[in-house]
Amino acid sequence: MSKHQKDLTIEKLMDKVKTYITDKRELDVIDKAYKYAFEKHFGQKRLTGEDYIIHPLNVAYILTRINADYETLSAALLHDVVEDCNVTIGEIEKEFGYNISILVDGVTKINKLNLSGTTEAVINNQRKILVGLSEDVRVIIIKLADRLNNMQTLFVHSEKKQKTTARETLDILTPIADRLGINSIKQDLEEYCLRYLNPNEYYDIVEKLNATKAERDNSVANMIESVSDLLNKHDIKHEIFGRSKSIYSIYKKLQKGKRFSEIYDLLALRILVDTEQDCYQALGIIHSKFRPKPKRFKDYIAMPKTNMYQSLHTTVFGIDGQLYEIQIRTYDMDRVAEYGIASHWSYKEKGSVKAVMQNEMEQKLQFFRAIMDLKKEQDNPEDFVNTVKREVFQNTIYVFTPLGDVIELPNGSTPIDFAYKVHTKVGDKTTGAIVNSNMVPLDYKLKSDDIVKIITSNNSAGPSREWLNFVQTTHAKNKIKAFFNKVNKEENLKKGEDILSKELRRQKISNDEFFNDEKLKKLFNDLKFNSLNELYGNLGSGKLSVSTVMEMYLKKEVSKDERIIEKATKGSERQSSSNSLIDVAGIDDIKVNLASCCNPVPGDRIVGYITKGYGITVHRMVCPNVAVLDERLIEVKWNTDSSMLPTNILVRASSDNNALINIISKAANNDIPVRKFNSHHSKEDEAIEMTVLVKNKEQLIKLMNDIKMIPEVTEAERLIK
Ligand code: MN
Repeated sequence: MSKHQKDLTIEKLMDKVKTYITDKRELDVIDKAYKYAFEKHFGQKRLTGEDYIIHPLNVAYILTRINADYETLSAALLHDVVEDCNVTIGEIEKEFGYNISILVDGVTKINKLNLSGTTEAVINNQRKILVGLSEDVRVIIIKLADRLNNMQTLFVHSEKKQKTTARETLDILTPIADRLGINSIKQDLEEYCLRYLNPNEYYDIVEKLNATKAERDNSVANMIESVSDLLNKHDIKHEIFGRSKSIYSIYKKLQKGKRFSEIYDLLALRILVDTEQDCYQALGIIHSKFRPKPKRFKDYIAMPKTNMYQSLHTTVFGIDGQLYEIQIRTYDMDRVAEYGIASHWSYKEKGSVKAVMQNEMEQKLQFFRAIMDLKKEQDNPEDFVNTVKREVFQNTIYVFTPLGDVIELPNGSTPIDFAYKVHTKVGDKTTGAIVNSNMVPLDYKLKSDDIVKIITSNNSAGPSREWLNFVQTTHAKNKIKAFFNKVNKEENLKKGEDILSKELRRQKISNDEFFNDEKLKKLFNDLKFNSLNELYGNLGSGKLSVSTVMEMYLKKEVSKDERIIEKATKGSERQSSSNSLIDVAGIDDIKVNLASCCNPVPGDRIVGYITKGYGITVHRMVCPNVAVLDERLIEVKWNTDSSMLPTNILVRASSDNNALINIISKAANNDIPVRKFNSHHSKEDEAIEMTVLVKNKEQLIKLMNDIKMIPEVTEAERLIK
């Protein structure tokens, strides 16, 4: 844990800066910022009794840890002059340019922010500043360093002030540092927070660590030697370090009821290598000599954490039989792990580093913007602050597997979300869940620190559609849907095969004859299918009718028109098969289709017909096709009239007229699209069959009345096929 440096000087700071900034002009700006701040703060003291300038010097020094650029360092040195020395932002801009002035301005504003405040004035300010926050990520980074130095000198304050500052830091600043992946600052902040919020636990851990330090150092040194020899033998260039686990992470694990001796990562190594390939190779070599502990391997290289962290993690039984947690990563990954978003500074990327970081921050902190939009709808400032706190800072929960692995989930997640996050197979076979040794329902809302055990069964038939109603993560939703798509696909294949074989029997065509290579090839060619399964699938899902297949097979030429008509009809059927349109009493999850013979529209009196295995087909009451259907009828109701449904009408008009054009213009006047029409001429008149899209019966009747007003039209009626 880094400490406040009482005797930090500009020379010492510049020595550190020069290890990565070489541009003379940039170095001069930093130096000028120091001199300016020194002069402005001259005579001011901090509560520690030190000259004030020691504070901005320390803030800049902390920022060199993450290779901050010269503008950030200059702004860090100047960050308190506006607040404390009656300097205006305009003056800063005049002296140091626009970029630096914006940073100083941002930090000044944030420092006035008190997120535990409740007065309207404070809250209004918070709003403005939260928006301002997103304008330059470097403002937040300076703020994190500023807060770290304040935590480092927090001992001078009253206990009450210590606790509020630590609480605010832990609630608001460390989550931001975490999101941005700035681990090196985050860990220090957490540790200071723990020290002030739970001093007993903190010092207890420190003491225990000290008591076992010599022993642990010895074990780790031996293990390092052994692993290093092994890697050298295999020509893997590497550096290897003993790694001390942060006190805060030990605390978190103890909180979960683990015993001190159980926390594996007390003994920890980190190996740095040149390439990703070396990482996996090193892992393999280590596992060949040291037995890995099952289920402790994590591949964050293939699956980086959301804050960009990449590394391989494994736990092995070491030379002395003790467990060692080993992290293997490249130097680049290590930089990202420590600096997060700030790592772009050290990559010396082409183009604007600032733009790259800004872009990335906007992604990471996009929740700020979402909240800002939300705020517009929410005028009550108290609600707003609560929303910010809830959505922004508590929208992630961390729960544990029984083995102590941390799983990150959005707030409101259930055991099902957890199960799918662990593995799709676990999710699909879930039958129950135990949280902190209590059996809970599957829609139970998990809380941070819950230990979750999923009960699975190999006999489980798979997920329930019900789960879609309460799962929180898109991941789980997609996996559940994928399961059902797969099941449907298999069902469709079987159904398609049935349909075809029945039809063959009906038409008295033998299988041998049908599956004769030549003919099938021709059929597939016509249908543009590649496999028999494709044919079965399309038959089973109803996308293709068996009569079309037979017609094509029997080489009855289907006219192009007819095919277009069929396509159009299919299209409209698909559009109309919507469950949300129709309410089936007492049944939620059933497939509903609108019959294509009578094409009911909202407002029509309707009745449902239950088809075995297919769902419910909805007909108009007057449709003659339902008369024969008897006991399978079921009551159904319209749910909505919002979507446009196709229905058919037949219009008769005297011949040799432009009836068609008039009819179409009537439809257009009523905002009714005409899907398709077909006219038959006879000597006496013209019969026009048309499919129109209407919202409801009322609209349809109006159209038919309008059509009847056309002088040439003799009749207009709904068509039932
Ligand atoms: Mn400060």
